[in-house]
Amino acid sequence: MKVTQIVVTAHRNPPVANPKRDALQSLPGSGSVTVTVHTDEGISGVGEVSFGRIAGAPDALAAVIEHELKPIVFGTDPAYVRATHQEMLRETEYHGSFGLAMFGIAALDTALWDCLGRARGVPCWQMWGAVHERIPAYAMVGWLNYSDAEVQEICARAVAQGFHAVKIKVGFPTLAEDVHRIKVVREAIGPDIRLMVDANQSLRTAEAIRRGRVFQDLGCYWWEEPLPADDIDGYAALAAALDIPVATGENLYTPYDFACFLARDAVDIIQPDLRRGGGPTGLLQLGLLAHAFRRPYASHGGGPVQLNIMACLPNALYLETGLIPPGSPLKLVDGCALLPQGPGFSWA
Ligand SMILES: [Mg+2]
Repeated sequence: MKVTQIVVTAHRNPPVANPKRDALQSLPGSGSVTVTVHTDEGISGVGEVSFGRIAGAPDALAAVIEHELKPIVFGTDPAYVRATHQEMLRETEYHGSFGLAMFGIAALDTALWDCLGRARGVPCWQMWGAVHERIPAYAMVGWLNYSDAEVQEICARAVAQGFHAVKIKVGFPTLAEDVHRIKVVREAIGPDIRLMVDANQSLRTAEAIRRGRVFQDLGCYWWEEPLPADDIDGYAALAAALDIPVATGENLYTPYDFACFLARDAVDIIQPDLRRGGGPTGLLQLGLLAHAFRRPYASHGGGPVQLNIMACLPNALYLETGLIPPGSPLKLVDGCALLPQGPGFSWA
């Protein structure tokens, strides 16, 4: 099987009126890029990456894929997807295999694996060999711009949908405001639902330790990304000072970055992102790397690709998702997401 055509489509969305906000940024949304890989056997595969912000990103990414990555993938056999992944890393090294270059690699890597699964007629988790039949899922619903009443309402809705865990943003200007928010949410979800907190890189080490001690006394389940993503010394100090697990990794890129965090005991739960981790090829590697250090894997973002990957990781802990919209193929049983059953990364 050979790749004979690659179609790249940028989707531009107008910014939404009331953007969601975390402690770092506003997220007005700005679209996505879809790549469809066609082959000489009539089988195709799709990869998509989306953006929470950066207005010009879809067009910029489409250009990177069109001019730089597409020529590498054209003519290859999808069965050699890991070789193609290596080649894309090598080719982008001159300006850096990060940022948009890595988002493009992720889109194509996803499309090639999807193609391979569809060619075999099985879900990718079946090709790779699975460990789990379902993955515990949590709802990231507590945005910083919501009022107390809004955050209570949406967290209660997540519990009503069947989630056993919810995540909220913290990192308000003061610890007192964070504590207030956690108590308000706890009131809405009751004592038995797990509650994770995420400060999106907004604090310095001493303050992250101070707040983390209070959050662990309040029974929060993990303390996510309180420090700048690359502050390995800060994360090592934080993890040493606290009992609450420190979760990070959504803004890290390479296996070497993760290996440094793991070897330094600077992270308790890794949270790879499908785009920054370079697609399924990258995330499978990151997941097993963390498993070697006996650390769990929680996804950044959800969807069928992360579910396929996590099905194959012994250390899969939690799938991140939002509220389940009407008509969604995502199904929860006992707080766990069921695996997609369709070929490649399709749902059914
Ligand atoms: Mg986060």
